[in-house]
Amino acid sequence: MIYKVKKQTKAIRTQTPQTHFREHSTPLFLTSSFTFETAEQGKALFDETEQGNLYSRFSNPTVQEFVDKVCMLEDCEDGVATATGMAAVFASFAAILQAGDHIIASRALFGSAHQIITQILSKWNITHTYLDASAPEEDWEAAVLPNTKMVYVETPSNPGLELVDMAMIGRLCKKHGLIFNVDNCFATSALQNPAEFGAHLVVHSATKFMDGQGRVLGGVVVGTKEHIKPLRFFCRQTGPSMSPFNAWVLSKSLETLDLRMEKHCANALELAEALEKLPEIKQVNYPFLSSHAQHELAKQQMSAGGAIVTIDLEGGFERVCAFMKALQIPSLSSNLGDTRTIVTNPYTTTHSKLKPEEKENLGITEGLIRISVGLEAVEDLIEDFTQAAQVSAEMLVSQ
Ligand SMILES: *Cc1c(COP(=O)(O)O)cnc(C)c1O
Repeated sequence: MIYKVKKQTKAIRTQTPQTHFREHSTPLFLTSSFTFETAEQGKALFDETEQGNLYSRFSNPTVQEFVDKVCMLEDCEDGVATATGMAAVFASFAAILQAGDHIIASRALFGSAHQIITQILSKWNITHTYLDASAPEEDWEAAVLPNTKMVYVETPSNPGLELVDMAMIGRLCKKHGLIFNVDNCFATSALQNPAEFGAHLVVHSATKFMDGQGRVLGGVVVGTKEHIKPLRFFCRQTGPSMSPFNAWVLSKSLETLDLRMEKHCANALELAEALEKLPEIKQVNYPFLSSHAQHELAKQQMSAGGAIVTIDLEGGFERVCAFMKALQIPSLSSNLGDTRTIVTNPYTTTHSKLKPEEKENLGITEGLIRISVGLEAVEDLIEDFTQAAQVSAEMLVSQ
């Protein structure tokens, strides 16, 4: 482009160079391998005197287009795409950490990230310290050991919607020479860019809001050239590559990410505000509600509150069942980040494998409901959640 345009324009206008067919939408290179025009070219491509595609485990034009867009949206130099978000999280650890290293992480992590840290990295003598996302700077500072290599955080957290102060962690990592790694799946690049706060690596489950329509799995890690280099080697050799088909779907989806996130966040805020007024709901949690414990920090580091709202209901699992039965519109699913509103009870689904005291620590009560607010008309959502809260409360009273 000849002049500086905004990210949204670039997200729509970045694509694989047009082929001789003069296609308008981006082409899909659904191919496992690429041919050499001559034996000499095969040699040159392998000894890297010539750059080009060889095999889709290493690189693919459609996958590269998706990676280029995410790099641009996250203000990062380089990146790799993976088959799932978890492959991206795992690669960001396994490509960089060595036996004997130590990692500091916020306690409230996506379930599988917690399993990787406690069950898999531990096999290779990589130890960890967990801290509350909202822990003060002294606590993070005190957790740094001589062998600490990385700080890994999710902000906002799932499902507690606790925030980590990214500017503070960025300073800490700079001071101690640590790698700052952020899972930015919940907020997306539309609401916050961790690289702005000094993150070296930014991980996404593209399955969620990047796709935004519940169709494909995908993951991506973007960051500085220096930190992506070992990840590229790791992915090329171990093979968690993204399918070109999924990359094509995801790249098209990024054209509407800003637009979708704007509506997701507006719906979420309006729903949260309406639910907060209901006496039948014990508590509503959303970063852009003034009642959120870290509302000020949320406004500093996020441009909107995100699409996830949680509510706490009195009456345990029985009440949860009645509430979910009464809801007419939302889907019951453990996924999130869809055009369709989704509800789940983390206590019995996504976080069911945690011990009772771990759940308590993370504020995951029996009555907690996580709402991934979709793009339906918000008036309909408010009406539906209101009647479900009332109907389920009446059922409890009548028992
Ligand atoms: C879903 C999710 C992941 C894992 O992504 P997959 O694509 O399901 O492998 C990681 N982190 C967060 C915050 C998520 O919500």
